[in-house]
Amino acid sequence: MRKIDIFDTTLRDGEQSAGINLNTAEKIEIAKQLERLGVSIIEAGFPASSPGDFEAVNRIAKTVKNSIVTGLARCVKNDIDATWEAIKDAEQPHIHVFLATSPIHMEYKLKKSPDQVVEQAVEAVKYAKKFFPLVQWSAEDGFRSDRDFLVRIMEKVIDAGATTINVPDTVGYASPQEYGELFKFLRENVRGAEKVKFSAHCHDDLGMAVANSIAAIQNGADQVECTINGIGERAGNASLEEIGVAMHIRKDLYQIETGLNLKEIKRTSQLVSRLTGVIIQPNKAVVGKNAFAHESGIHQDGVLKHKETYEIISPELVGEGEVPLVLGKHSGRAAFRDRAEKMGFDLSEEKLNKAFQEFKKLADRKKEITEEDLMTLLTEQQVSIEDVQLFELKSVQVSYGTENIPTATASVLTPEGELKTLAATGSGSVEAIFNTLEQLVNGTVNILDFRVKSVSKGRDALGEAIVNLRYNGFTSTGRDASQDVLEATAKAYLNAINRHIIQESVRLKQTAEV
Ligand SMILES: [Zn+2]
Repeated sequence: MRKIDIFDTTLRDGEQSAGINLNTAEKIEIAKQLERLGVSIIEAGFPASSPGDFEAVNRIAKTVKNSIVTGLARCVKNDIDATWEAIKDAEQPHIHVFLATSPIHMEYKLKKSPDQVVEQAVEAVKYAKKFFPLVQWSAEDGFRSDRDFLVRIMEKVIDAGATTINVPDTVGYASPQEYGELFKFLRENVRGAEKVKFSAHCHDDLGMAVANSIAAIQNGADQVECTINGIGERAGNASLEEIGVAMHIRKDLYQIETGLNLKEIKRTSQLVSRLTGVIIQPNKAVVGKNAFAHESGIHQDGVLKHKETYEIISPELVGEGEVPLVLGKHSGRAAFRDRAEKMGFDLSEEKLNKAFQEFKKLADRKKEITEEDLMTLLTEQQVSIEDVQLFELKSVQVSYGTENIPTATASVLTPEGELKTLAATGSGSVEAIFNTLEQLVNGTVNILDFRVKSVSKGRDALGEAIVNLRYNGFTSTGRDASQDVLEATAKAYLNAINRHIIQESVRLKQTAEV
């Protein structure tokens, strides 16, 4: 069996997609989960792009041990320097430098001749190689580039010390046949190709990202770049879970080993969905809510008689299925801690106590506490920020009747430590809450999107609210789970505002350090 490296770019290409902005604590949480999932490489961000990205990449490089951590950089000295500063403490420092090679990108975006592009790429790789043992070079828009030019530039960057060559289909234009042929061509024609790894990076604009990635694997790619739930620019990237499970289920055909711990797929998918606020479509392969639901009577009958009549993937393979929960109303702190540790959480004493209090509150109100509920509670604590003063909801009350004007009253502790109580009306309960809270934050707030969903099943399920808003020109997505959706809504709104405060404090801290 041939081993393929899984290069996860959820935290870079995925985080780049519209409406997503993760804070450092959330990025670390996702990185730790990706490490558990067994990905070979984690692309943690683009250090030169913002202080927040720099900090996150730096912290991830210091935290993750079993996966290689990389950062993206343009082919310029400053980007490479910033990436080195962020990554130098990693076990195996790795950098991902990129430069566009297609005629349209070189002429209109870079305004450079092909010769100038070759020179810049070579210089950047040589410079990066002074620091990094592992240097990946990407031919941005590689698929739409001239093949002879690709051969020429790749030979030069390999001579300059690149260890991986990435050939992205940046705009999602390729078909599996063409993309596979390109890899075969490069493998056969690039001098020095045997010394490096080739990598595939596909976008899903035509719905072919996974198929294209697999075609690349079959034609000599040693690495595929993908994201959890397929999130990413525009239509997204190739979905990691689909590639991983396809390689496993059809190993008879592909003869490929990925090194992934498939049992962690469900959990990784849910964590990414929860923290990014990007909901998974129900019919999504492998991780959708309905991926293992048999609806037709004939199918159900078949599955009951023999599972494999209609089931090619067992839900257990990807860690799906109810894990019996032994915790309830009477469980003590020790049992709770034990459970949290078994679920892979590593919380400080203070955070564990807070999570335990939340758990007790929930156990009083809810009959059955599911694994998903617990996951939500613990994740909320794990990613919460301790050292920055934020807005905190103390109470909210809504008066609603079909004949009345909805009114919301909220008490909020401000970052300055002041307790404020305010009220406002709205055309509905949610608008009344938003109007009330807007009086507390200094600035204008535009609501871009608002959603509520249930975390688990049943009428007493936890409700999760996701608020996407623009606050003083900053777009942010906030979320929170609570037993009541109106309370979750108020908390999610403040969470979105708090994200701005956290981002600002990171920026100020960085400016102070420089
Ligand atoms: Zn991309």
